[in-house]
Amino acid sequence: MIDLRSDTVTRPSKEMLEAMLSARVGDDVFHDDPTVIMLEEKAAALLGKEDALFCPSGTMTNQIAVNVHTRPGDEVILHKHSHVYYYEGGAMMSNSGVSVCLLEGDRGQITADDVKAHINPDTDVHRPVTTLVEVENTMNKGGGSVYTYETLDEIAKVCRANNLKYHLDGARLFNALAETGESPQKYASLFDSVSICLSKGLGAPIGSLITGDKAFIRRARRVRKAFGGAMRQVGYLAAAGIYALDHNIVRLKQDHEKARHIGKVLESLPYVDHVMPCETNILIFTLGKKYTEKEFLAKLKEKDIHALSLGPQSVRFVTHLDFTESMLPKVEEALKAL
Ligand SMILES: *Cc1c(COP(=O)(O)O)cnc(C)c1O
Repeated sequence: MIDLRSDTVTRPSKEMLEAMLSARVGDDVFHDDPTVIMLEEKAAALLGKEDALFCPSGTMTNQIAVNVHTRPGDEVILHKHSHVYYYEGGAMMSNSGVSVCLLEGDRGQITADDVKAHINPDTDVHRPVTTLVEVENTMNKGGGSVYTYETLDEIAKVCRANNLKYHLDGARLFNALAETGESPQKYASLFDSVSICLSKGLGAPIGSLITGDKAFIRRARRVRKAFGGAMRQVGYLAAAGIYALDHNIVRLKQDHEKARHIGKVLESLPYVDHVMPCETNILIFTLGKKYTEKEFLAKLKEKDIHALSLGPQSVRFVTHLDFTESMLPKVEEALKAL
């Protein structure tokens, strides 16, 4: 089976499983699981932050950030396609009682000018007070698009000048950095909190981390408990995360090259209408009149190739570490034969 539905479909490798089996564990709610502590210290150091917190999912790390940075009734500025708003089950509103100011923007990206134009100051009693700005990099629904450092820095300056917190959903941050070559520390220094996922391109079966300063993580630890995300002998899972950070960041560019190769093939095919620019491991394209996306996906499925619909005529492929070198020509062949 060739599974291009998401980079979450990877299975732990033998080496990763061995690291998990040999992990030393404790009770992480008492904060004495040595492997979790090691992973948190590693992630904090990697991103140049004071502290980090291991959580079951990226939804939880994002929602903890929203909860810690805001009070009920506050407003969050973000792109209308942000994962934290669009794909997290309404959690911002139900868990933290915030309202949202949804911005438009090319390929899921917002700009400093647009943020500036939408800030509600606390001097106006009529409007919900803006306290948080959120960005996503790479941007999932933007086709894995990568923000420039300059754009994120300009937004950071607007946040600082207006006393707003700034959160990065970096579920695929290392995919972005693999392309720009920026250091994670320099990058993360722009933000009050950064969330990263271990279970996407890095290939762990579970897990995300939220990073920030000590005071932020102290509050985040309480919110994680309240959200039901405090876990016990979870060092077995943290060991997979340590393995992922040590071994699987360096190879992300290979996934990008494969995605770009498929993108080029698609551009040459008459039944494809438009291929979004492919910068990382996500490839989004639309089909012309020959096939509906359902027909197209069914035809691929006959060849045991699986992908996702993103709506009428829109299809998403995501490459990852279980999409091997030998699978690439099979996909190319299947696409050309349609
Ligand atoms: C996958 C993802 C998350 C977190 O998702 P979980 O499935 O809850 O781990 C957050 N943000 C983005 C952009 C994602 O792609």
